[in-house]
Amino acid sequence: MKSHVKAVVIGGGVVGCSVLYHLAKAGWTDIMLIERSELTSGSSWHAAGGFHTLNGDPNVAKLQAYTVQLYKEIEEISGQSCSLHLTGGVMMADTPERMDFLRLAHAKGRYLGMDTELITPSEAKAMFPLMDETNFVGAMWDPVEGHLDPSGTTIAYSKAAKKLGAEIVLRNRVVELTQEVDGTWNVVTEQGTVKAEHVVNCGGLWAREIGRMVGVELPVLAMEHMYLLTEPMPEVEEFNKSTGREMIGVLDFKGEIYTRQERNGILLGTYEKACKPWSPVNTPWDFGHELLPPDLDRIAPSLEIGFKHFPGIEKAGIKQIINGPFTFALDGNPLVGPVQGLTNFWCACAVMAGFSQGGGVGLALSNWMVHGDPGFDVWGMDVTRFGEWAGLRYTNAKVRENYSRRFSIRFPNEELPAARPAQTTPLYDTMLANNAVMGDSWGLETPLWFAPKGKEPRDIVSFHRSNDFEPIGEEVRATRERVGVTEIANFAKYEVSGPAAEDFLNRLMTNRMPKTGRIVLTPMLNEFGKLIGDFTIAKAAEDRFMIWGSSAAQKYHMRWFEKHLPKDGSVRIHRFDQSLVGLSIAGPKSRDLLQKLVDVDISTKAFRFMDFREMAVGGAPCLVNRITYTGDLGYEIWMAPTYQRLVYQAIKDAGEEFGLIDFGMRALLSMRLEKNFPTWFRELRPIYGPFEGAMDRFIKLEKNDFIGREAAAKEQAGGPKLRRVSFIVDAADADVMGDEPIWAKVSKDYGTVEKPHGYGAPRFDKGGKEIRGSKAAEGASAVRGIVDGDWRVVGWVTSGGYAHYVQKSMAQGYVPAALAEDESAGLFEIEILGHRRPARINVEAPFDPSGEKMRT
Ligand SMILES: Cc1cc2nc3c(=O)[nH]c(=O)nc-3n(C[C@H](O)[C@H](O)[C@H](O)COP(=O)(O)OP(=O)(O)OC[C@H]3O[C@@H](n4cnc5c(N)ncnc54)[C@H](O)[C@@H]3O)c2cc1C
Repeated sequence: MKSHVKAVVIGGGVVGCSVLYHLAKAGWTDIMLIERSELTSGSSWHAAGGFHTLNGDPNVAKLQAYTVQLYKEIEEISGQSCSLHLTGGVMMADTPERMDFLRLAHAKGRYLGMDTELITPSEAKAMFPLMDETNFVGAMWDPVEGHLDPSGTTIAYSKAAKKLGAEIVLRNRVVELTQEVDGTWNVVTEQGTVKAEHVVNCGGLWAREIGRMVGVELPVLAMEHMYLLTEPMPEVEEFNKSTGREMIGVLDFKGEIYTRQERNGILLGTYEKACKPWSPVNTPWDFGHELLPPDLDRIAPSLEIGFKHFPGIEKAGIKQIINGPFTFALDGNPLVGPVQGLTNFWCACAVMAGFSQGGGVGLALSNWMVHGDPGFDVWGMDVTRFGEWAGLRYTNAKVRENYSRRFSIRFPNEELPAARPAQTTPLYDTMLANNAVMGDSWGLETPLWFAPKGKEPRDIVSFHRSNDFEPIGEEVRATRERVGVTEIANFAKYEVSGPAAEDFLNRLMTNRMPKTGRIVLTPMLNEFGKLIGDFTIAKAAEDRFMIWGSSAAQKYHMRWFEKHLPKDGSVRIHRFDQSLVGLSIAGPKSRDLLQKLVDVDISTKAFRFMDFREMAVGGAPCLVNRITYTGDLGYEIWMAPTYQRLVYQAIKDAGEEFGLIDFGMRALLSMRLEKNFPTWFRELRPIYGPFEGAMDRFIKLEKNDFIGREAAAKEQAGGPKLRRVSFIVDAADADVMGDEPIWAKVSKDYGTVEKPHGYGAPRFDKGGKEIRGSKAAEGASAVRGIVDGDWRVVGWVTSGGYAHYVQKSMAQGYVPAALAEDESAGLFEIEILGHRRPARINVEAPFDPSGEKMRT
């Protein structure tokens, strides 16, 4: 065993071996994988080995597609077979809502390069004759599904890594991790200490324990999971013989069941409602190649549905039930990337579908470690996406919820109840008394909308417009015509101070820093000139700035800020989280209202648009920004939580004469739509450049050499290929939700419109034959070739909804820059729930295009 290496990967499951392989492939060969026992000694060895590309997050779906196409490569390099069976698979919908979900997934697939197809239950039955098709209303066929040998695949990765120079040390547990002042990690093992620049936690079932070695409680929990294997079935053998094909994989939403052929029989697995965490607090170190006792009672309700839907399976004898643990994060996606607050400590854990995701995780993480950037939009699996609130008990509740609804539909207006309320502001009870429907915003209870008096404050979940439509409309109209108040505690807030604070911000941000008492809006870029943040910054004093940003990105942004902080202590950063809360008032009467609560002059001239001031509001010390996300005249008022009730009550009392209304987040988002304002994580993400994102006026290339400047200058000089635009959509009773394809009636193939960093998946027909080489697919335009008569898919929606004041259905998204200013009717269509609706680009915001109202 070497004593010094560049990187140590802890854990020899499929994920650790994939990370090792990808690091070696990227040129880091001075690396070592340390495994406590033999390879696959966690959850990897007893996996069902299934893989698929579909994922709720399209960016994660792309990484899954990459994983599948990688298997041939590692087989070739290692000489080890993965026993790949590319059978294809179907997802079965038993209700119209689930069919809507499949239509959405199918539409998304259009720009992800996925060849999914909506088919009838009878067509599905022809490929899996054991089902009773009368239980279903429709299905979606995905050719890139199948199964493999989990151990063979893990070993193929490890052999390929070794061939490239990586070292693997077996039967040696890592027992402690310490860090020297110079950042070197001491990886203390049973066989001695290895010094490493980087450490990667691929501990699988023990990832939580490895996190604890460095003082981090990772939001990951193992769940028991069962699948059964039947005795050989004559029906299966007969099908194989008569068709020359293997039976396909089937996923049944209703039963939370997956099933497929395994040898001459069937494998059927369940995500049961009465699910059970395994080792909820500490994972025993002596657990190894062993299984957990099966518990048929627990999966009986799922099996009952399964046998009804697949009566052919019920007749077969059960040969074996496998019960094994594997890990999940709160939302079922992995935890990947550098851990905020530590240096060179990386995670690739909570990978619940190691055989669908392991390759993509390894590629993204190795890019990140070697090149400083994952190279993909990996927010959906970034380890920073959960905050400190995701502790052991919170994680336990959320993971159980996620597991038990593994294949359930999440409606766009659906808030999930587990582990709530977690964090609340002092106004929580008041908001409930006001009949607020609350939502979870990065662990914080936040009012979404207010139900009319006498009506139950509850969302009726749907893909269509629902019971919140009218009340939100009322909140918007009253705000736009009079004045409204909303809670904005769920924004991220930071203070950057110290003698070098301004220089630091100038280096990080694309816009000039404001003068004292003024505010600017500014994006933040990475070295590649891609958008990694969008902030409101106020200069409070010569050496002190206040910053507001996206709540969910707090740890993501802190990680970036800390990375670039001068080492000499000349800049300090403080993240307030909920130690600073806020209220926003907006609408034409908001100034009159606020004037009644303050003792200073806030007339147009005295307190201008984009001014920042510390002032007492209703007697409470507050920070006030003359800006609102509604795009109207308005203010953001920030205070310590101890004052929030006082300020709110003062606003309510003073607001009575102006017809003040409470509005929630959904009304706020509706109002930003009619101003064409973008949102972080929807319109603005690390896959877009600032000019693509139409953030031109906030990019001051001439100001100084900020991070990403060179790349941004290149983007501007070459002209962005894509452009963010707003659409007015001729929608019926459903608005866009995000990720819908945008069609255009154009003769030209805008081949450049590839969702950035996209991978095309290899294509297979229903018989399992490849119809398009993986080489040809790699890097190919995901949307090229999706043609229907005169129409082509040219882009994708990022978000949208109903803009209540202008009474229009609106959408934002990306299209080829050449089309971005073409407002012609009849040029675009946007696919909503499987129906293409006419859409028209709207260059100017439909509400107050000149911005006069917010400046008055
Ligand atoms: C019943 C069942 C069915 C499944 N079916 C599928 C499926 O069909 N498709 C799919 O994609 N996935 C499936 N999975 C999930 C899949 O098994 C996991 O996603 C995958 O195994 C995760 O791999 P990993 O490398 O992250 O973790 P693990 O396999 O748990 O590997 C972690 C490794 O780290 C080692 N380790 C931990 N701590 C230390 C330490 N301190 N020092 C040294 N070594 C250490 C362990 O010994 C272990 O070998 C299934 C899982 C189960 C249980």
